[in-house]
Amino acid sequence: MRRPLIAGNWKMNLGHADALRLADGLFAGIDVPPDRDCAIFPPFTSLQAISEKLRSSPIRVGAQNCYPEPDGAFTGEISCSMLKAAGASMVIIGHSERRHVLGESDAMVSRKVKAALAHRLKPIVCIGETLAERDAGRTSDVVITQLRRGLDGLTADAMRDVILAYEPVWAIGTGKTATPAQAQEVHASLRAELGALFGKPLAEDTLILYGGSVKPSNVDGLMAMPDVDGALVGGASLDESEFHRIIWFEAPEG
Ligand code: PEP
Repeated sequence: MRRPLIAGNWKMNLGHADALRLADGLFAGIDVPPDRDCAIFPPFTSLQAISEKLRSSPIRVGAQNCYPEPDGAFTGEISCSMLKAAGASMVIIGHSERRHVLGESDAMVSRKVKAALAHRLKPIVCIGETLAERDAGRTSDVVITQLRRGLDGLTADAMRDVILAYEPVWAIGTGKTATPAQAQEVHASLRAELGALFGKPLAEDTLILYGGSVKPSNVDGLMAMPDVDGALVGGASLDESEFHRIIWFEAPEG
């Protein structure tokens, strides 16, 4: 039985004072239904303070990135143990902005996933195709290749702590959302591939989130799809009332 997760990626938004204000608002006003989980991913500069603030709330706190080495001369990077010490329990890995703006490769994604797991940080591994790749009919090829390379070398046991997020690049921050049917088609193919790689029971238990312009107006339709297990939300997670409505998506019957 997969427990839905709604995850809010704040990206490089909100100075510390505004981040604390939003976290305060979430703490005071956001009740999470008992049948689902919720997590937020603030910028590094507010991670520790927000983790402390939300310690007694049902909202979990994670980081937007990590570096695979434990320490050393990696200016500007942050290690998994630093994130753990700051209170993170999850980490987003391979977000399309990191892949496309910062040149992160599948090989680096794979190293980060292993480092996160070794530090008991739950990785949310993001994959997704560009518009040109979709238009060329290459969506399935692209996402399956990213999945295989990003999860390379993991055992089925290690996979129990991995969450996937399908985030079509053309839908991130653009206001264009994949239709529920488009999301379902890709999620089902990812689950089938997980089954082939790690066995059906693992595939059936793995959470696959959808991300890309998720809003109050489209979340119910997406969450009604059998293989959509939650949402990775960017822009709408910066608005307390929108994020609240997304957390309270209407669960499909049955
Ligand atoms: C994201 O940041 O992962 C994302 C999906 O952003 P948005 O919801 O703004 O498209």
